[in-house]
Amino acid sequence: MNKILIVHTGGTIAMQEDAQGSVKPFEINPLYSTVDSLASEALLVNDEFMNIPSPHMTPSIMLDLANRIKTRVLQEHFNGVVITHGTDTLEETAYFLDLLFDWEIPIVVTGAMRSSNELGSDGPHNLISAIKVASCEAARSQGVLVVFNDEIHSAKNVTKTHSSNIATFQSPQYGPIGIITKQNVNFHHTLANRESFKINQLTKKVVLLKVYAGMEPEILDALLARKVDGFVIEAFGQGNVPPLIVAKLEEALSRQIPIVLVSRCFSGIVQDVYGYEGGGRRLKELGVIFTNGLNGQKARLKLLVALELTNDPNELQELFLK
Ligand code: ASP
Repeated sequence: MNKILIVHTGGTIAMQEDAQGSVKPFEINPLYSTVDSLASEALLVNDEFMNIPSPHMTPSIMLDLANRIKTRVLQEHFNGVVITHGTDTLEETAYFLDLLFDWEIPIVVTGAMRSSNELGSDGPHNLISAIKVASCEAARSQGVLVVFNDEIHSAKNVTKTHSSNIATFQSPQYGPIGIITKQNVNFHHTLANRESFKINQLTKKVVLLKVYAGMEPEILDALLARKVDGFVIEAFGQGNVPPLIVAKLEEALSRQIPIVLVSRCFSGIVQDVYGYEGGGRRLKELGVIFTNGLNGQKARLKLLVALELTNDPNELQELFLK
């Protein structure tokens, strides 16, 4: 029988709606009855790590979570791990764990869009699906997975695409890597690359900025006046920024503060195509680091982790091409 660790972190999946329609954390985890109902299928061990809404999540809590999983799995020999999480920052925690773990055993993150006492609550179903995936041989060595609404997504590509729909988690451009049916777990894709970083602390400050038409350069002045170790810029289209901020980016680079470029588009990657002022080609010449399809929030986590190991622009560029 598979032995699965279920680490609870909170989120709507563990919340209840009160008579006024306000959805809030609840002291008794409503998922325990679902876990109990699966007792004949697998040996399931609950770990009440925390009970927070996921907008309260931070990289330092993510690191604590990674350490908790590491300690328990190594000491108690689990075959798989399921993490329950609020959906707002679920993709960030999943990706952070994916950057840190290179394990064979499945690590699966899930959540819910409807709280435990709402009609059509999706929490129990998603939890059961996540346990099925975490127990499945084909899920081994696939990196951290996000299981939601009968689909399996890679942590690297998945993102929350809808504020309320239960089909919110999608992998733009790539699609899910598998599906869960009534009887089976079916994988139909695998990730081309996996990478893992050995870090045990997070000491850097990395800021994520989204550009917009007419963006004021003063925003960057305010940030450059403080201690910032790295910037991630969500640029227009293929990787272009308003010309007025270029001098500020140059200033950051001259101070050895790396700048990582992602696109604010939902799909696609940044490239050094445009040669006009603020265009990607000019940014590349300045030493801006180009990414390979990561969204802004994930690129920020990757830079936060990578900066613990190197500040060398060439090494960072190598890492971000993966
Ligand atoms: N705001 C909630 C959270 O992320 C949403 C959810 O869990 O679906 O904790």
